[in-house]
Amino acid sequence: MILFLSVCVKSLIELGRRYEWPKGQVCPHCGGRLWGHGFVSGWFDGCPQAVWLPRYRCSICRKVVGVRPAGYWSRFQASIADIRESLAHRLKCRRWPSGRSPSRQRHWLNGLKKQIQVRFGMGWEGDLLEAFDELCKAGVRAASRAV
Ligand SMILES: [Zn+2]
Repeated sequence: MILFLSVCVKSLIELGRRYEWPKGQVCPHCGGRLWGHGFVSGWFDGCPQAVWLPRYRCSICRKVVGVRPAGYWSRFQASIADIRESLAHRLKCRRWPSGRSPSRQRHWLNGLKKQIQVRFGMGWEGDLLEAFDELCKAGVRAASRAV
């Protein structure tokens, strides 16, 4: 389970391990109080170096809760906005935008098709970007192949 904080990736880079831990964070699993539990490194598109991501540990259930910058899904280095932009370009222009590997972008499109299949059924034939937005609103990682 990942706890999302509204911290932009740039401020995470600037702060590094000097991250100011917000007080009063509660565990998404049990509602227990969270305590700072160190950092893990993460990589994001456009950042030349690894970013230190804070972690918490729950005082009651002892689970570790990670933090991601706002606008990023767990296990994705590209922002949700960049993924959507890439998919929109592909669907409109029938080719991938330059600057990112086509295979990576194809992975996102295949992930979206998989999520649509799972959430809306095999016979679904709507607009892919509308489905992307709807899945995002529902809290689904719309470009992920993981179900
Ligand atoms: Zn807990």
